[in-house]
Amino acid sequence: MKVIGIVTSGGDAPGMNAAVRAITRVSNKLGMDVFGIYHGYAGLIEDEIIRLDTRKVGDILHRGGTILKTARSPEFMTEAGQAKAVANIKKYGMQGLAIIGGDGSFRGALALQKHGIRVVGIPGTIDNDIPCTDYTIGFDTAVNTIVDSVNKIRDTATSHERTFVVEVMGKNCGDLALSSGLAGGAEVILIPEIEPDYDAVCKKVQKSHDQAKSHAVVIVAEGVGGDPKGRGVYDSSAFRVANYINEKTNIETRVTILGHIQRGGSPTVNDRLLASRLGAEAAKALYEKDTGKMVATKDGKIVRVDLEYALTQKKTVKEEFIELANLLASV
Ligand code: ATP
Repeated sequence: MKVIGIVTSGGDAPGMNAAVRAITRVSNKLGMDVFGIYHGYAGLIEDEIIRLDTRKVGDILHRGGTILKTARSPEFMTEAGQAKAVANIKKYGMQGLAIIGGDGSFRGALALQKHGIRVVGIPGTIDNDIPCTDYTIGFDTAVNTIVDSVNKIRDTATSHERTFVVEVMGKNCGDLALSSGLAGGAEVILIPEIEPDYDAVCKKVQKSHDQAKSHAVVIVAEGVGGDPKGRGVYDSSAFRVANYINEKTNIETRVTILGHIQRGGSPTVNDRLLASRLGAEAAKALYEKDTGKMVATKDGKIVRVDLEYALTQKKTVKEEFIELANLLASV
């Protein structure tokens, strides 16, 4: 393989830049030329393509977001859009692509593969919702951001002796809620994988109140209690829980929706390491023409998994974490 391209697609995630840097530098060391595609698949269609090299990816390791920008491209979902993308890939002599993104971006990668383009996927999304990898790039930073916010909210919750419901991202996957709830010492954690029992939540909050605890923190993933799409802010999962607690217990309950603050910020050491390792592995896989793969982390090791297989698997939440959360909550 002589020429490759890098795409960042879907939601941005801290550490994507570290991956772009690693792919570019390792590719250059292996004698491959590198192009960067702006705005995900939309940039492939619109020919927004620039040359990258070892120097051009300097000073980006510590930056959040993606220097290549990202986008969602409905046009790429069509045959005509994909044909335009393939024509541009060929125009620049790119033989393979490293695609950093979530499961939607990987479905796009498989579509390109059907057109004869070699692809390697790199899991980059804060949600940690990709099967067959222990972690995705950006998850660790997002969890740290949430825990930092919960620490601050806890100060106010304690001072005012209030209950706070904190909504975090996660439409289908509760990993952000579960990990941040455990690390932030939440009294209650609600995740989309488990049907919410609002009466049980009220009982816990009431018990916490009766034990003269100065506060209670409830962490709820945005996907809890149904599809978050189409719901207004005041019908969010957090407001549903808070309204229920207010009505049933009369305990003053406030809501904080963390929103996009969870996506930003300088990547943590863990995310920089993960992104650097996965990026280097992706460049090697492309060089070896070992494509149609997702580079992933399994028990601390970097592995290559068949991309199509990975997308047919179900991401499951860690049972151990659920049990631990129940054991550690003091109510
Ligand atoms: P995140 O997890 O952060 O949402 P994602 O990669 O899952 O990231 P999506 O919006 O689902 O984000 O997908 C990104 C882009 O991938 C889409 O805008 C579209 O261009 C392309 N894509 C998604 N699904 C397909 C598909 N089935 N076929 C072709 N292209 C697809």
